[in-house]
Amino acid sequence: MLNQLILTGNLGNDPEIFYGSEGDPVSSFSLAFKSGREKTGWLKCVCFNKNAEIASTYLHSGARRQSEHLSASAILGYVDCSLAYKFGRIDKLPMEFKSDALEFGTCIHRVLEQYYSAKMIGDKMLLKDVHQIFETTWTGIAAGRDDIRYSGDNNFKTLLMYGKDLLTAWYNKLPDDDFTILSIEEAFTFNLPDIPIPIIGAMDLVEEDSAGTLIITDFKTSGRAYSKDEVDQNQQLTMYQIAAKRNGFGDREILLRFDTLVKTKTPKFEQYWTTRSELDERRLIKKAAQVWDGVTKGVFVANDTSWKCKGCAFKQACDEYLEAKREDYAQACNQ
Ligand code: SF4
Repeated sequence: MLNQLILTGNLGNDPEIFYGSEGDPVSSFSLAFKSGREKTGWLKCVCFNKNAEIASTYLHSGARRQSEHLSASAILGYVDCSLAYKFGRIDKLPMEFKSDALEFGTCIHRVLEQYYSAKMIGDKMLLKDVHQIFETTWTGIAAGRDDIRYSGDNNFKTLLMYGKDLLTAWYNKLPDDDFTILSIEEAFTFNLPDIPIPIIGAMDLVEEDSAGTLIITDFKTSGRAYSKDEVDQNQQLTMYQIAAKRNGFGDREILLRFDTLVKTKTPKFEQYWTTRSELDERRLIKKAAQVWDGVTKGVFVANDTSWKCKGCAFKQACDEYLEAKREDYAQACNQ
């Protein structure tokens, strides 16, 4: 069984990059952490290949955050509500709460990551081990937290039980394929015309079949099953295809997939397959440039009839922002 360790801390130095005998990039840096109450400890971290390049490009000592960038979720977030984009990504306001769906999804994602890490080295994880990893991860993420907003009758314990049922549905329906796992959580970065900052992201799972076709999978948890149109039009998957083509897989056939754990009363697991054309890629590239144009020109519009408003983690900031405009409105009326 594989273990996963998540380290959070400040960088002690800018990552130094050097190249191995085969020309493969390697970077190293130290990470400060608190041991006990006062003592600061240091960990030496080493990254290889693409992760090494990303670390040396975007990590700087004394900083916890990455340099400015766009990602598929940032682009979609701007389109959904550019005001929420401003609050979260430009003003960097803390979220007023964390939704249980977000935290639960992160937890399931980490469990699947560990399942595939074991599979990559030839181990088939047992369902009881999957459950154990989920329990440990969910406890680490959610136990004792008072900033998580639970919806409906959910709470820490009900989601602990539900998560195991959901993973059972996934485990029992997961096809026994013979794909070769190429990478898990494959980080990528690339540049697009008219956008001076990089597009970054990570593909959950990259595999290939016996014919050499690349299969890129995104793990999802969702409250409902997806329609075919939603899968065929999803721009996160389009972005993964663009990234794969620009990061060494330009000559491959590419299939895209959502592995979706559906949080219905009776949990379900659905695999959705799709492809993207060059036209799909061009449309997203155009949209990314338009988003960047809007960001640089300060165009931030409250999409306050969106279904997202109900669960928005910037609701209070949004109300205050819109209320503040009342004075401008009153002045304009009196002119
Ligand atoms: S409450 Fe609605 S309009 Fe306001 S920031 Fe959130 S999503 Fe946007």
